[in-house]
Amino acid sequence: MGKRVLSAAFKHETNTFSKLLTDLDAYRTRGLFVGDEIAPAYLGTNSEVAAHFDAAAENDWDMVPVIAANAVPSGKVTREAWDYVTGEILGALDGSFDGILLALHGAMVTEVDEDGEGALLQAIRDKIGPDVPICVSLDLHANVTQEMASNANGLFSFRTYPHVDTYDTGKRAAAALQAAMAGETAPKCLVARRPQIDGANHGRSQDGPMIDLLKRCETHGKEAGILDVSVNGGFPWADIEWAGPSVTVTYDAGAEDRAREIAEAMMDTVWDERANVTIRHLPVDTAMDLVKAAGTGDKPIVLADFSDNPGGGSYGDNPTLLAAMIAADLQDAAFGTISDPEAVRECQRAGVKGDVRLDLGGKIDPDFVPPIRVEGEVVAISDGGFTYEGPMSTGMRNSMGPTAILRVGGIEIIITTNRLQVLDLAIFRSQGIDPEEKQIVAVKSAHHFRGAFGPIAREIHLVDALGLATPSLKSLDYQNVRRPVWPLDMD
Ligand SMILES: [Zn+2]
Repeated sequence: MGKRVLSAAFKHETNTFSKLLTDLDAYRTRGLFVGDEIAPAYLGTNSEVAAHFDAAAENDWDMVPVIAANAVPSGKVTREAWDYVTGEILGALDGSFDGILLALHGAMVTEVDEDGEGALLQAIRDKIGPDVPICVSLDLHANVTQEMASNANGLFSFRTYPHVDTYDTGKRAAAALQAAMAGETAPKCLVARRPQIDGANHGRSQDGPMIDLLKRCETHGKEAGILDVSVNGGFPWADIEWAGPSVTVTYDAGAEDRAREIAEAMMDTVWDERANVTIRHLPVDTAMDLVKAAGTGDKPIVLADFSDNPGGGSYGDNPTLLAAMIAADLQDAAFGTISDPEAVRECQRAGVKGDVRLDLGGKIDPDFVPPIRVEGEVVAISDGGFTYEGPMSTGMRNSMGPTAILRVGGIEIIITTNRLQVLDLAIFRSQGIDPEEKQIVAVKSAHHFRGAFGPIAREIHLVDALGLATPSLKSLDYQNVRRPVWPLDMD
């Protein structure tokens, strides 16, 4: 038997403007697995944890999968959830491990600490000492802190947005860990930033400044002593001191000066290109005008509500775009999804083919956005289970929780119990709705939807319905981020 490795995943992208705390139930809803439960949930999927298992088999590791915890982005992680997950990881560290392999997001804020990952890595380091290597895969939207860079031996971020290289990134971290455990390298890492909370075209990897930056990651990664270069778009909806884009370099002993040079030069580009954004966000009314002017076609127009994307920690129950679609009397349309457990129960009581009048959405924080009154017919009711079939999270199971399809005028609305980002066609298809047959498909997603919905779309428009993940950062009440910072204090 080869090296003994601890594997764990503890993920969260925290929107600190959300009132919805992320508790253990939120982790159970999206995915909380311990020990022997982890392999059946992840093996064969496009995920970092699947890569951990495959790397263990290839390198003959004695790997101990401790916990895999993931929750939909939302408000701060509760002390209870934090204590439980970190307790499992720290409790497993018995001094027998040769290496630690972690899958983290990199934008976790807890009730205890504004830098969840930094605090976790520091606690692990305190327990295992300076010599056991820790390699970490991160989301491309990580907010990387100095505490993270100081305590990890390697930080490896996704290189795609939509994030279709999650498995590959897990493999990069695992390969670096293997080399370190074998004594072939002695890795360390560093991070560079600029006074900005957004940039790098928010990480969009198919156009804009990321094209060149990602090429440089590959080129520099081949230099002697440079083990990995990653560029992070950052997560600006976390109001913490060190939010924002960064470049991390993982380097071998002796290459620190060159690593610093690379990181700073690449961050010069991120700073210079900070206003280079390749998309535009439309007000709801403008989006309706465009849709009406476009007429019918052989493929759907996809409207993405960037601002109420639960993948950015928004509530996912903002009915603003839906209200506009109903008022515009759009036909042959589908809306996915709006989270409202109470409305689902009302639909269940009415039954399939039943007529309902109900208040929809706007329940999590009615002061932020109130519900809308709708009348319609219940088309279907389900348990909300589905399997991702597109390029992201391929093969993973997820559940929308008890779900109802309500038809209001020409719009079929997916009302869910759970909050989720609509990035896969299976979210519609599992409910008997074929998005390819619709004229208009509305999704709550900022960018990930493009992987699955891009190929079926006639046109794509991003809408800012002023949800919690609004791209209008200046409209948010920042208190903790370092100042001055772009774009809050400079144009
Ligand atoms: Zn991301």
